[in-house]
Amino acid sequence: MRISGIERYDIRQVMGNARGDFRSVYVLHADETDCTACGYDPMSDSGDDPTCSECEGTGKTISWLAREIPSRIKVFDFVQLQGAGAIPPGVELGDVALYVRKNDRETFEALEGKQRSYVKIAGDGNVYQPFSITADGVGQDDEIRVLLRKVNVEQRATGY
Ligand SMILES: [Zn+2]
Repeated sequence: MRISGIERYDIRQVMGNARGDFRSVYVLHADETDCTACGYDPMSDSGDDPTCSECEGTGKTISWLAREIPSRIKVFDFVQLQGAGAIPPGVELGDVALYVRKNDRETFEALEGKQRSYVKIAGDGNVYQPFSITADGVGQDDEIRVLLRKVNVEQRATGY
């Protein structure tokens, strides 16, 4: 069978939609150290000196480990939450689903319970943290699904 240029274009469109939106995702892991200039107070989760220039009053100095992860992305917008399409349980407006390689699972799991670490998506000004990591992709054995929710973080890595 001969495939015309137009058909080929349509096929590419259909494939593109089925595969979702590919974007770079950055996992920013905050490697925390107690501030050596003022000190860290675990009771208040802040620095001993609120005006400390070294830690900006947080009591922690951070060195960032950034890792770029190629991901397929699905943003849950209002239309989808109205009932069109399959929505994973617990998903809210503005949440994002990432479909990433199984090998990247540990990178996302390492963020659990880490309040200062976050996920940044290229072209998106928000920051996110994962709230669900499951093998439940879209029937592709080599993928896992990571559900992200917008969060506020005290400090962000430069450029992320
Ligand atoms: Zn300090």
